[in-house]
Amino acid sequence: MSAYTGTLYIVSAPSGAGKTSLVKALVEALPQIRVSVSHTTRAMRPGEVDGINYHFVEHAEFRERLERHEFLEHAEVFGNLYGTSQLWLEEILAEGCDLILEIDWQGAQQVRRLLPEARSIFILPPTQEALRQRLTNRGQDGDDIIERRMREAVSEMSHYTEYDYLVINDDFAHALEDLKAIFRANRLRQTSQQQRFSGLLKQLLA
Ligand code: GDP
Ligand code: ADP
Ligand code: 5GP
Repeated sequence: MSAYTGTLYIVSAPSGAGKTSLVKALVEALPQIRVSVSHTTRAMRPGEVDGINYHFVEHAEFRERLERHEFLEHAEVFGNLYGTSQLWLEEILAEGCDLILEIDWQGAQQVRRLLPEARSIFILPPTQEALRQRLTNRGQDGDDIIERRMREAVSEMSHYTEYDYLVINDDFAHALEDLKAIFRANRLRQTSQQQRFSGLLKQLLA
């Protein structure tokens, strides 16, 4: 067990802004980051794997888990239920890993209330047209679902003021560098470094 406790990060974005792709690239680029796998009642997309992208569950199972208080937060997004299981959350943080929750603004509000030390990041597309293009290019949702996600994008984006950091995902590599900078800077905070280098600090101050 590491003496260092990880930081909880919330990442939100309108659907199609690039949240999943950016978080995947971030985890490949920096060590000691884990991504929470949510439970959802949404239908599986082509290429998605149960237990990797989401835990895909029926409505009844979601409700049962909710009643057992298994979720740290939950919300209805685009007519589907999504929730973050809190079972292994503390375990991951205690191992010294940073943990990312890819959740919507409603879930973000609930997590901030429970865990005020969480850092939150909002990802924005460069234009509304680019957002529509990305949803279309991703090729995994039907036209009606894309239209619904576009309609709800503006109301999702209006919550950006509630977040600590804003990243514009125009050029992917640039946005990834911005995300990495946020994580690096947070890891350098005095209180984090104090935990990480407690031995060194003891020696230096002897
Ligand atoms: P995508 O973001 O376009 O790939 O679409 P998804 O269907 O994967 O996610 C739909 C919405 O649900 C997004 O706004 C996510 O941030 C949100 N979401 C996913 N998992 C969770 C969760 O565990 N809790 C909450 N509150 N929201 C979630
Ligand atoms: P989200 O998880 O926010 O819904 P995704 O990560 O699934 O978004 O990205 C949506 C689509 O946009 C994907 O096909 C992805 O490859 C593409 N994409 C992501 N970032 C960029 C970018 N900077 N420029 C162009 N396309 C992008
Ligand atoms: P998708 O179904 O396209 O993967 O995700 C749609 C939206 O649901 C995204 O904006 C995503 O952030 C949100 N979402 C995914 N998982 C969760 C979750 O566990 N909790 C909350 N609140 N939102 C989630």
